[in-house]
Amino acid sequence: EKIFSGFSKTRNNLAVIDELLLYWNLSDTDRVLDQLEEALLVSDFGPKITIKIVDNLREDILSGKLKSGNEIKEALKRNVLELLTSKGSKTELQLGFRKPAVIMIVGVNGGGKTTSLGKLAYRLKNGGAKILMAAGDTFRAAASDQLEIWAERTGCEIVVAESEKAKASSVLVQAVKKGKELGFDIVLCDTSGRLHTNYSLMEELISCKKAVGKVVSGAPNEILLVLDGTTGLNMLPQAREFNEVVGVTGLILTKLDGSARGGCVVSVVDELGIPVKFVGVGEGVEDLQPFDAEAFVDAIFA
Ligand code: GDP
Repeated sequence: EKIFSGFSKTRNNLAVIDELLLYWNLSDTDRVLDQLEEALLVSDFGPKITIKIVDNLREDILSGKLKSGNEIKEALKRNVLELLTSKGSKTELQLGFRKPAVIMIVGVNGGGKTTSLGKLAYRLKNGGAKILMAAGDTFRAAASDQLEIWAERTGCEIVVAESEKAKASSVLVQAVKKGKELGFDIVLCDTSGRLHTNYSLMEELISCKKAVGKVVSGAPNEILLVLDGTTGLNMLPQAREFNEVVGVTGLILTKLDGSARGGCVVSVVDELGIPVKFVGVGEGVEDLQPFDAEAFVDAIFA
């Protein structure tokens, strides 16, 4: 329901397609596909994906596979669903068998990293896991206070920096060591989020990743990139850069309850081949949901 209302703008942009297809006939195909292309572009699908979808539809129309406006609409939805799911990547968390599993949460400032970490902790704890949080955002002074509030709210333990000068990697190492000694199932690591163009942030992420891998082999099991769903296609270069530097294993799309921009989700998943694992639909503890590609497609195409 929340996703459905969050995507109302995208849905409105795409609603024009229904009208177009209602009066579609074969001789009108070029005009209709041109307008469909425009509607997809306005909805943040990005040129590459838009052309891919429109070319697929054109081929199926001209070969006689699609014979009515209704069939074209269904094929459009199927195309988008396939783009979202065809990479074969797993949408569930892959946590391995060694304890503790380590999940690093990365992303630019303000995207919803700390909030998502808190919500994820709540979700995993409710599933029976013993969770330890690590306040690895040592750059922004208020970040560890914010995470401490989430630790309290969710009843999880937390490791914070002992001094202002502590390095992010040493906070994470301390947390993962504690997790190992005290039998925690999962350590959730917050990280600093400056601009993605900030080289030292990327260096820091690399050293965090290496450092936790020395404590538990195979860690981090997941590196989840948090992307603000309202930023549109701007999320693409961000995602590309984080992925190149640290190797992202899954996406968390936040603020889908706001005025989220739907099409770019498809672009990011298709271009990077990284699955969306969770979506954020609000600021409360329960407002993180596993990504459901079918519900997403239904929310953007009424
Ligand atoms: P960080 O800098 O990446 O750690 O971002 P924060 O976790 O501090 O979040 C930035 C702001 O976005 C805060 O006001 C959050 O409450 C808000 N926020 C995060 N996720 C969501 C979401 O899914 N929906 C809404 N509506 N707000 C969110």
